[in-house]
Amino acid sequence: MDWQTRGLAAFIATVSIALLALAGSVDARADGSFGAFVEGLWAEAREAGVPRPVFDQAFAGVTPDLTLPDLMIPGREAVPKRGQAEFTQPATAYLNAASLANLATEGRTLLARHKATLERIEREIGVDRTALLAIWGRETAYGAEKTPHDAIRVLATQAYLGSRKEMFRAELIAALRILALGVPRADLKSSWAGAFGLTQFMPTEYFKNGIDFDGDGRIDLAHSVPDALASAARQLKEKGWVLGQPWGYEVLVPGASSCALEGPPGSRKLSEWQAMGFRRPANKLFRPVDLNAQAYLMMPAGRHGPAFLALENFQVIRRYNTSDLYALYVGNLADRIAGGGNFETPWANVAQPATKLVADLQTRLAALGYPMDKIDGKIGSNTRRQIGIFETEAGLSVDCWPTPGVLAAALARKVQAAGAAP
Ligand code: CA
Repeated sequence: MDWQTRGLAAFIATVSIALLALAGSVDARADGSFGAFVEGLWAEAREAGVPRPVFDQAFAGVTPDLTLPDLMIPGREAVPKRGQAEFTQPATAYLNAASLANLATEGRTLLARHKATLERIEREIGVDRTALLAIWGRETAYGAEKTPHDAIRVLATQAYLGSRKEMFRAELIAALRILALGVPRADLKSSWAGAFGLTQFMPTEYFKNGIDFDGDGRIDLAHSVPDALASAARQLKEKGWVLGQPWGYEVLVPGASSCALEGPPGSRKLSEWQAMGFRRPANKLFRPVDLNAQAYLMMPAGRHGPAFLALENFQVIRRYNTSDLYALYVGNLADRIAGGGNFETPWANVAQPATKLVADLQTRLAALGYPMDKIDGKIGSNTRRQIGIFETEAGLSVDCWPTPGVLAAALARKVQAAGAAP
């Protein structure tokens, strides 16, 4: 165990003890008002067409699940989110080459097995088959990974105590409507956030983009591969999927270019990147048909790992799940299913900075006048970009990666005046 792992373990232990201490006192408090909260949902549920017996049965014996992350327990500090990949996992671990290779092998088998369905989806909905398989693989390992929670309990807890109550309240009402359609409760086994089925749909998405693609008269996202894949395809199409275009390209960054070019604000035509000296590894070429497409530079580990030029479909995948690493995982898995392999440039074994270090650095850079979208402790494109710009201006070696050294340098810089540009 290195010091970081030990720190994380100690942190989890502290949180667990705090949770246990909380559970006793909050359970009693929560149980009384939880009943009132549920009753307060009835008018809305009735208006949405949920019959009373369905409503009663849905909540019979349901208590809030205080072990879920992202809850705001009244009168207490927010329970920290658990399992955030960017906190617990560096890119090398998240983009585990062995698990990607395994999922790709299985993906190719499924590609053959579901060929007719996938061709029909491409034709009628307009989303590429490998991307759909990759999402299915990433979300539930093609259905092998079971999500353990009961969606009604999860959504009710989040609507009652979560930090995003309104959003989850709408999802809860939608989940009740799904039950009212006669969908078995067991089909709504979900993640901690209430997503269910082979491709992890939120209940409102079921009504927006769910489709009965196998023609048996019901939308079955838990068991029907055609229904689940076509529904996911509709969701991706709605978010702007471009049929036949890659999600992006891995590239080699020319010596004269900086990692501080990263991010959507630096978006330009692929042909312009090419003119600046950006190339694909191993002498591969960009597809001529993509040269007019807009692309932005993405370097998830700063200078310590591979670089990518992200096209529109990368952003579409991020709209499905807002994370660079998630989109990269899906993109690389899709490429592997199509016959591709691992990233050409290896990920260096850099330490994954703690959320607090990142948040402190974001706070300091914002105070110094560097535009920060959010102070959230997450290492997104803009955070890396601003670190790179700061490193350049401070005369540091430029790697676009948060470290205690960069934070120290930022803290040593004087804050000029509120809102002053650096
Ligand atoms: Ca069906």
